[in-house]
Amino acid sequence: MKITIVAGARPNFIKIAPIIKAIEKKQAEGARISYRLVHTGQHYDKNLSDTFFEELNIPKPNANLEVKSGSQSIQTAAIMVAFEQELLQNPCDLVLVVGDVNSTMACAIVAKKLNIKVTHVEAGIRSSDMTMPEEINRIVTDSITDYFFTTSTWAGENLLKYGADSSNIHFVGNVMIDTLYQNLDRISAPFFWNEFNLETKNYIILTLHRPSNVDEEQSLIQLLQGIDKMVGDKKVIFPIHPRTKSILGETDLNLKNILFVEPQGYLNFMFLIKNSFAVITDSGGISEETTVLGIPCFTMRNNTERPETETIGTNTLVGTSIDNLNKMFRDFLQNGPRKAGIPELWDGNASERIIDILLSKK
Ligand code: UDP
Repeated sequence: MKITIVAGARPNFIKIAPIIKAIEKKQAEGARISYRLVHTGQHYDKNLSDTFFEELNIPKPNANLEVKSGSQSIQTAAIMVAFEQELLQNPCDLVLVVGDVNSTMACAIVAKKLNIKVTHVEAGIRSSDMTMPEEINRIVTDSITDYFFTTSTWAGENLLKYGADSSNIHFVGNVMIDTLYQNLDRISAPFFWNEFNLETKNYIILTLHRPSNVDEEQSLIQLLQGIDKMVGDKKVIFPIHPRTKSILGETDLNLKNILFVEPQGYLNFMFLIKNSFAVITDSGGISEETTVLGIPCFTMRNNTERPETETIGTNTLVGTSIDNLNKMFRDFLQNGPRKAGIPELWDGNASERIIDILLSKK
């Protein structure tokens, strides 16, 4: 079986790393399976791309489509044009896409139109928020996927509602969590740990990059100023996403507690999360990682496509207003963290399950 694996953006790299390891393990056991890795070039900053390949030992991609930035449509179209050439020159039995970025949807469409089977890892999750580009990517990708791999039974139910064939839906767990478990003993403090006097539980991690939080400069500034006031004697480490940085520019925000740092590599970032007092974020992936690490997470969004991080895990959905965050943060300070657990099958073995199932399909 020849698989083309697609990755385009930071969360994709974290998800494909354990899938590639699982394939290589099967190859070593003599299974007839091979892969070709295609990087679409959607994320190309060293901080968001090369660092993850190096730290997670992901092999150098066989092809880089180098699409870079653009509007939603320009980027999606550029990926489709380049990926069609890639697939025509390098035929395969199956295209495997992960997550919900533009590369996921664009490459799924191209593969399907060339009559190649599409596998979607992290299928079926839904925010029901059609203003999110990711939600559109999820729905379109799942509408043409052949084999669905899900992180929850709820995701499988969503797929059934959309008409997917139950025999092709496989609840396998979470590949992002495979990566977390595979690297927990390699995480390390970033260079600024001592310089900022960081200690376990004396700081909060903040990440913001979703359009709903960062595209309006004045609301973003108010949110940052509100968080700066809210945290009392805690420092806030803010690895700033390039999208957020470009909106803030060089404006001096006069913040006392928030410390801006570059986007972190995986090993430093996971160290920071694991030792933090709490996390404030609008990322979906981070709410999964904090759930497994038992770190309180406040999600600055009105909805989540990962409801198990709230019902089972440590995540609290806050909405996008600073007033609500203040209220929920105060409750947390008064009452302490909620009792939380780890969702079913988030055990570090999802990737091996995926490869076993794919091998059984042929
Ligand atoms: N991440 C990282 N360094 C950072 C910020 C995030 O390694 O400075 C990792 C994080 O652990 C998570 C993934 O990147 O696994 C999430 O990426 P992002 O927030 O871009 O995507 P989303 O989850 O919102 O799709």
